[in-house]
Amino acid sequence: MGEVAYNFSEETVIVTGGTSGIGREVARRFGEAGATVVVADIREEPKDDGESMPTHERIEDDGGRATFVETDVSDPDDVASVVEAARAFGGVDVMVNNAGIYRHGSLLETDVDAFDQVFAINVRGVFAGCRAAARDMLDREESGCILNTASISSEYAQIGHSMYDASKGAVMMLTRVAALELARHEIRVNAVAPGVIETTFGTGNPAPESRVDDRLPDVEAPMPDLTEQEIETDVPMGRMGSPEELAGSYLFLASDEASYVTGHLLYVDGGYQIL
Ligand code: NAD
Repeated sequence: MGEVAYNFSEETVIVTGGTSGIGREVARRFGEAGATVVVADIREEPKDDGESMPTHERIEDDGGRATFVETDVSDPDDVASVVEAARAFGGVDVMVNNAGIYRHGSLLETDVDAFDQVFAINVRGVFAGCRAAARDMLDREESGCILNTASISSEYAQIGHSMYDASKGAVMMLTRVAALELARHEIRVNAVAPGVIETTFGTGNPAPESRVDDRLPDVEAPMPDLTEQEIETDVPMGRMGSPEELAGSYLFLASDEASYVTGHLLYVDGGYQIL
């Protein structure tokens, strides 16, 4: 198969939730493509046991430029601050609103605090990220690109996913509305909708020491593990995807190759949405 080489050496990219999982790989790939990367996360140390080096250090270790700004996306002031911090590198060109959490619970058993927490991070965080980045791009009279991490859950409902699926449906609509409102300002807004991706996401909430967790209702509500049988049945390609297989779609959507693409939800899901 052919290889694609992107060049983002003139760009500054913010990746929320860039410390672990999908965001880490997206940040790493933008760094590899020459971008200055601002990793915005509630934690600097990766969640995954196998990865100990913070993302920004890994990017620098690989010869790139990166920094870390402690950010809680549920706090719009934090989000505005990280966009402000990117001004030191010329201002944000690509905003990746990726941070998100999962909490399990059916409509009947879910309490409102848990619902609010999922929406504060998954929806308010994306809203604040789109708004802060767009305001900054307009202030600087620059074009730009906003990418949101949606999900197959944006359009496909599952039992027990009441909070998460509703939040990712909202991310899809925020993407579309923002794309409409910003189209004439040369700011493109798109979303990537991952399928079942191998990260530690399914293991639950942010780390116990995080500021967000202090406000969590005292309920452990991780995503139930999918069995091999379920993966086999639900995913036409018969396997989970990796962050490496996902990250390229963010670079494509941010690149000039996608200059006429806006308001789009790009599924990267092994065919999950077909069924
Ligand atoms: P992950 O848990 O590995 O990484 C999420 C990162 O977000 C972590 O570094 C965490 O510290 C950070 N984070 C959590 N709350 C935050 C907050 N309030 N402010 C800033 N950072 C915060 O999960 P992942 O699998 O990489 O998920 C990333 C995104 O992809 C999420 O939006 C998730 O909903 C979405 N997604 C994941 C999958 C999957 O199968 N893994 C599928 C579809 C969509």
